[in-house]
Amino acid sequence: MKSVSHSLIALAESLELRWKSYLESGNFDHFVEFTLSLNGLSERLAQHNLPGLASACEELENRALALFNEYSQEPVPELQANAISQQLETILRVLRRYETPAVAPKRPDDEDDEREQWIRQRNVLIISRPGHTWAAALIEQLSFYGFNAQAADWNVDPQADENLLAVVFIPDREGDVYPPAAVEAVARLKACFVTAYFYCLSVPTSLEAIVTLQRAGANVCIPAEFKLADILSRILDLVESREQETQRVLIVEDSRTAIAHIQRTLELHGIDSRAISTPLSLLQAAADYRPHAILMDMHMPFCNGVEVTRALRQIPEFQTVPVIYLSGETDISQQVEALRLGGDQFLTKPANPIVLAAVVKTKIERYRDMQRFGRHDSLTGLLNHSAAKEQLEQMLRRTQPVSQITVAMIDIDCFKSVNDNYGHPVGDQVIRSLAWLLRGRLRNTDLIGRYGGEEFIVALNDISLIQAVPLLDRLRNYFSQLPHAHARGALHASFSCGVAATPAFLTGSSLIEAADQALLQAKRHGRNRVVASGQVL
Ligand code: GH3
Ligand code: MG
Ligand code: MG
Ligand code: MG
Repeated sequence: MKSVSHSLIALAESLELRWKSYLESGNFDHFVEFTLSLNGLSERLAQHNLPGLASACEELENRALALFNEYSQEPVPELQANAISQQLETILRVLRRYETPAVAPKRPDDEDDEREQWIRQRNVLIISRPGHTWAAALIEQLSFYGFNAQAADWNVDPQADENLLAVVFIPDREGDVYPPAAVEAVARLKACFVTAYFYCLSVPTSLEAIVTLQRAGANVCIPAEFKLADILSRILDLVESREQETQRVLIVEDSRTAIAHIQRTLELHGIDSRAISTPLSLLQAAADYRPHAILMDMHMPFCNGVEVTRALRQIPEFQTVPVIYLSGETDISQQVEALRLGGDQFLTKPANPIVLAAVVKTKIERYRDMQRFGRHDSLTGLLNHSAAKEQLEQMLRRTQPVSQITVAMIDIDCFKSVNDNYGHPVGDQVIRSLAWLLRGRLRNTDLIGRYGGEEFIVALNDISLIQAVPLLDRLRNYFSQLPHAHARGALHASFSCGVAATPAFLTGSSLIEAADQALLQAKRHGRNRVVASGQVL
């Protein structure tokens, strides 16, 4: 996590440098470079689960892009330049706060301090009329799941809190319009909390209302029919542990100059790339590099891009990887034919670098969403059984022998009786709550998966067995206190947990097996407890 944040800050600092050199020289090329690297930064921020910062960055990019045509000959006016400088400064300031490592050395007897470092700061501001029942319920629930939620009314006088993750607006319904006071509050607060994510609840299904809110600064508009549980799940999506893999593009192109241009554009946007100059090595290169998208030249020696793409589509694992043609071909019928035969997009050379990067990124995002679909469990949004095991192997490959990994197997106690007494839907909600608790309270770098029905797997990076047990025990305690609503009131559930760690166990399967054995011990000794592998009971 630490090195990751450093690279983000380095990226932001080089951005600042670019902006300064534009201000000093007035050279429009510097302005273009600034805009391009702004886009690269916002991409990286989104990868690192900092959506508020990412959208602040995108906003800044749009502001800069809007000045593109007007000021290619003369310098950007001072007022606009100052606004850009200020926004950039805010982004950097917020980013620097993430520099602190997620888990620092702990003083064992200082619980608050330990908690502080373990749980990333996740402040949420809830705006509603005082005493709104939903606001109170949301605050209570969010705090269970590890957020620091606070209530305020519409006239709140914002104290700049740059750690604010999200602002949630809960207006009273007023027919088909969003209350003007609420819209005004969104705009006013957005100016203050540029990097926070803005959720508006009870939004009427009317285009006018949604567009008005978007203009004011809303990031997510949630319809009136949504239940509290759905809203919670949307907020928790913010901190979901997404894979943080860099985007990879394979370039198939016989011109070295074209390769150099494309690679430079991609690099500026934070996209990794590899190039091959002959299509004959495509299958091998794709198997080695596992690209998220392929940029394909049309005219090459031996065969053309369309033939290559058709051949690629014969191989099952490359059937859906996006192929973007990049060619001097201007004949529309040829372009259409190329798309019909397996391509996803056609760009004519020389492609505008901003358009090229935008197309590559959106194609990759769609592709990843599709892949995500197969890797994630639909009830909880967590990694599914096979994806979790695969990810654990990856984690072990990446970190050993430098740091430690602790694996915990978690199983809800007497879950059959929850289903039997309250029904399957209530059981489902208990499963989701545990998933949310884990998502809300663990770090983005930890692995969380749904291993089976009411069984979860967690792998903690850089944490020893001794450190992990009290942390997991705290999670156990939170979960046992969490009320789960049902038709006649609320029920409480608990879980048992078995833990094993490296270096006592070195492979994914031996870690899981050992943690499972410890889980069995926890069940045998009365449930609702955490047992470490090898612990004498
Ligand atoms: P123990 O404390 O020993 O773990 O007792 P248990 O009742 O939890 O035992 P067991 O693991 O045998 O029961 C798990 C139950 O979970 C059985 C199955 O009906 C239920 N279950 C599995 N998947 C789901 C699901 O997705 N939703 C719901 N509601 N129930 C599920
Ligand atoms: Mg060519
Ligand atoms: Mg169970
Ligand atoms: Mg079970």
